[in-house]
Amino acid sequence: MRHHDIVVVGTGFAGLGMAIELKRAGREDFVVLERADAVGGTWRDNHYPGCGCDVPTPLYSYSFAPNPDWSYFYARYDELRDYLEDCTDHFGVRPHIRFSTEVVAAEWQEREQRWRLALSDGSEITARLVIGGFGGLNQPAEPDIPGLESFAGARMHSAGWDHDVPLEGKRVGVIGTGASAVQIVPEVARSAARLHVFQRTPAWVFPKIDRRFSRLEKRMFRRFPATQRLLRRAVFWFSESVAFPIVKQPRASRVLELVALSHMRRQVRDPALRARLRPSYRAGCKRMLPSNGFYPALGRDNVELVTAGIERVEENGVRTADGELHALDVLVSATGFDLEKAFEGVHLTGRGGITIQEKWAEGFAAHRGTMVHGFPNLMFLSGPNTGTGSTSQVYMIQAQIRYVMEALRAMDEHGAAELEVTDAAYDSYQEWLWERMQKTVWLTGGCNSWYLQGAGRGSGVLYPDWSSSFRRRMQSFRPDEHDLSPARAPEPLVPA
Ligand code: NAP
Repeated sequence: MRHHDIVVVGTGFAGLGMAIELKRAGREDFVVLERADAVGGTWRDNHYPGCGCDVPTPLYSYSFAPNPDWSYFYARYDELRDYLEDCTDHFGVRPHIRFSTEVVAAEWQEREQRWRLALSDGSEITARLVIGGFGGLNQPAEPDIPGLESFAGARMHSAGWDHDVPLEGKRVGVIGTGASAVQIVPEVARSAARLHVFQRTPAWVFPKIDRRFSRLEKRMFRRFPATQRLLRRAVFWFSESVAFPIVKQPRASRVLELVALSHMRRQVRDPALRARLRPSYRAGCKRMLPSNGFYPALGRDNVELVTAGIERVEENGVRTADGELHALDVLVSATGFDLEKAFEGVHLTGRGGITIQEKWAEGFAAHRGTMVHGFPNLMFLSGPNTGTGSTSQVYMIQAQIRYVMEALRAMDEHGAAELEVTDAAYDSYQEWLWERMQKTVWLTGGCNSWYLQGAGRGSGVLYPDWSSSFRRRMQSFRPDEHDLSPARAPEPLVPA
């Protein structure tokens, strides 16, 4: 059975970033397992019309790999996918990747002090360390609406867009008004004969300060890389300031609401439509959505915002609670992702045969978002409580990668074969998270969102403090929070 020092799972921003750091540190004995046939994670899987990142690219990219050639301030999905492909080759990681290979199960081997992994091609490998960049937003959540299957037209989820389905001149329905929907609606509105946008809960929508980078700017970024670093820093501190009402003082989200309301007043002339679009919860409670195209699209003659509530889906369209049938040719579910389902498929068995699902029966949890007591030598990237509502996930991922690298160094220094977070450190971190979480707008803002999926006593998804505080927290490895155990002596041979 093939043995690797380290197995990295996934090639999204997390897995790929980890592989690059291992390579940069001169660690060559690692393999990256990717279930698809290309790198990219989210940016490979999502390609719906209008798909792009709603975090500015200068910050939503690796700090060690600035790209002077970004076309837009907010990159579109294909440029992000190409960026990750380029990084894969530039840093020499591609030879380490096993494509079309999924981890079916991974089990901690107590005696051998290593992980044993069963792969989808039927083979098995072992590894000292497993680093999981599994990603949580990869299992499309279909809406639990009666009759969905009976729809006779074309049906798709935003995360599985079928570009062979023509939209020109068709009657299209989009269920949802979240981050994906606000990007889809303006694009589809241009080509569809009629577009029905089914809104259950309105979103706070903000001005999007997007623009193309000029040739001069790109040349400047190339010649003087410090200018691009400066821009990254400016975007970071702006995003960090937006976190103040979210994680510190929910009442201050009134400022965000005023910005969003003024955006709405400028873009939506009809007061009755404005009233239907106005959220009744605090800004920041759900994801805040930057868009300059969503409201104007709703004002088009061929677009209807439907707020009556969906009663059921029928063969010919969607029936709303007011009895109206919205006849459709194409039905799009922009209804988000099922976080819990994403982890149902991850078969990890730790010490004493406990599975990660059993460990997380009361909610997702990991020490510093990275390690779980009972699962030695296993690190999560973009793990529990590492999400942010207002800044770049890539920033959070890089902070975790740094921590993992520090942990590896500590293992080397201590000559340790095993690394496990102590029960006490694990629990006290969860206490801290819980206490902090209570003050956030996510729990006090009067909304229900996917942020609370898999939640124990707070939210298993988000980090309830400044992202800069997360980075500081992850800057150095704390040996006192972990058990570092040496390799076990080989078992004595038993005489026959
Ligand atoms: P989402 O934010 O969870 O939004 C799902 C939408 O579908 C909501 O409007 C929801 O309404 C609606 N919905 C769900 N079930 C429904 C039902 N049965 N009937 C009617 N409406 C229903 O999903 P998403 O837009 O795909 O975004 C998910 C996450 O992906 C985001 O928060 C973000 O983290 C990430 N994302 C990021 C970007 C980016 O640019 N970086 C872009 C897209 C997505 P309720 O609000 O009432 O539940």
